[in-house]
Amino acid sequence: MKQPDCIFCNIDQDNFILKNDLAYIIKDKYPHSRGHLLIIPFEHEENYFELGKKTRDAMNDLLIIAKKDCDEKYQPSGYNVSVNIGRSAGQVVMHAHLHLIPRYSKSNDI
Ligand code: 5GP
Ligand code: ZN
Repeated sequence: MKQPDCIFCNIDQDNFILKNDLAYIIKDKYPHSRGHLLIIPFEHEENYFELGKKTRDAMNDLLIIAKKDCDEKYQPSGYNVSVNIGRSAGQVVMHAHLHLIPRYSKSNDI
């Protein structure tokens, strides 16, 4: 259920890069690199491991599309795909999400 005080429950749809029935993509507001995206389920669930398979599959579908788009746009030399689970692991927004972080061989190529 949508939480009134949760950032990711309340993102304006105009900011969606792409969505499907269960999840959406937005640009990270403080990107680690050029093209850093977040893949976020509509469902408010704090812990990635508590999401259902359908939701995780829907997130993964968007991840694959986003990676292809990023290859075409920016030609990164690598990627990090990551999910932080729990504050001790660095989770700051307590609504589960995946990071897609393109990496570039030139250190100044943010
Ligand atoms: P976490 O550390 O919880 O895995 O990552 C949360 C991510 O959300 C961070 O990379 C942060 O930059 C991003 N973020 C925080 N607030 C906002 C916001 O209001 N909009 C967007 N697009 N990203 C945000
Ligand atoms: Zn939420």
